[in-house]
Amino acid sequence: MEIYADNAATTKMSDAAIAVMTDAMKNYYGNPSSLYLKGQRAKEKLEQARLEIADIINAEPREIIFTSGGSEADNQALLTAALLGGKKGKRHVISTAFEHHAILHTLKKLEKNGFEITLLPVHENGIIRLSELEDAMREDTCLVTVMTANNEIGTIQPVSEIGALCRKKGILFHTDAVQAVGHIPIDVKAQSIDMLSASAHKFHGPKGTGFLYCRRGIALSNLIEGGAQERGKRAGTENLPAIMGMAAALRESAEGMEAHNAHKAAVRDHLIRGLSQIPHSALNGDPSERLSGNVNFSFEGIEGESLLILLDRRGICASSGSACTSGSLDPSHVLLSIGRIHDVAHGSLRLTIGEDITLEQADYIIKNVKEVVEYLRSFSPVWRDLMSGKREFILK
Ligand SMILES: *Cc1c(COP(=O)(O)O)cnc(C)c1O
Repeated sequence: MEIYADNAATTKMSDAAIAVMTDAMKNYYGNPSSLYLKGQRAKEKLEQARLEIADIINAEPREIIFTSGGSEADNQALLTAALLGGKKGKRHVISTAFEHHAILHTLKKLEKNGFEITLLPVHENGIIRLSELEDAMREDTCLVTVMTANNEIGTIQPVSEIGALCRKKGILFHTDAVQAVGHIPIDVKAQSIDMLSASAHKFHGPKGTGFLYCRRGIALSNLIEGGAQERGKRAGTENLPAIMGMAAALRESAEGMEAHNAHKAAVRDHLIRGLSQIPHSALNGDPSERLSGNVNFSFEGIEGESLLILLDRRGICASSGSACTSGSLDPSHVLLSIGRIHDVAHGSLRLTIGEDITLEQADYIIKNVKEVVEYLRSFSPVWRDLMSGKREFILK
């Protein structure tokens, strides 16, 4: 059996997106900036994709800027807010401790340039408290950036409430919605979102393409200077096949969203029940305020990396932290932010299922995780110390 359970790292491209992209590469290779018909046909396709994408999140087409993905959109949003804030002497930014590194590393850069950053705690359940957000807001706060859904533990923030609070205080609100777009409903107007980042490869579109929503009236700053593409806000010849593929994938994801979520949530809860039977284990993140496809567990006395390698041999693709941090031995900053100590965070497993998952596959995952955890514990010195009472269990 082969099971792909790492959809938070990336997703398999949809057949519809591949078909649209193939057609685009063969037939719409004109440069959208060219004045002859071939260019204008490509331009029409580009604007049609923009319209479709805007529609799905209740934005206006001119509020959508195509980027090379989620990371670029995050960088551009933060740079924009910092430049706008800096001009008014506002150099304070509020975010959370468990953002994606595209946000956290950009915030570090802002900090080096004289900005002050407040990272809100996300507590054991992986959700910020609105009262703490309000308390952190200052006269000189220029931006609040809080992710819609977390990529490791799947917890969903109260975005509408955060948006309303920011609007009331006159503070810009950006959300990294890379894990949310195409998975849960987003309405930028109703949710008072000023800027939002999305990435195609997280909803069955191509890699290297995404978009930034930026509310009309906010003067977006460029990361990339050059030609006048994207109304002068993002230079470079548009990656039309990928943009068209992204629009097709998003349309498909939006249409199937309700049915997919019902199915994935049922399988997710089946997985959670099954894996909870493993002694000295715990679910990470809120059990209900989470993405329907996310299961994240810690198992005491083992190392996540070994677990992953052995699961891979049994045909299961999973993750122990975010794909970006695997390869380093630092425990996930997300798991540390919800209060897991280093040793426990190390023994973690993230399964992010797609809509094609079956209950039979879920049972195969449960059986194999149980076996592999037991096997790894059988020669783990940490487990031996826990069992002999030399060390105390953290997960009861
Ligand atoms: C994947 C991801 C990103 C980065 O998106 P890319 O398109 O890969 O650059 C940013 N934020 C979150 C939450 C993500 O899951």
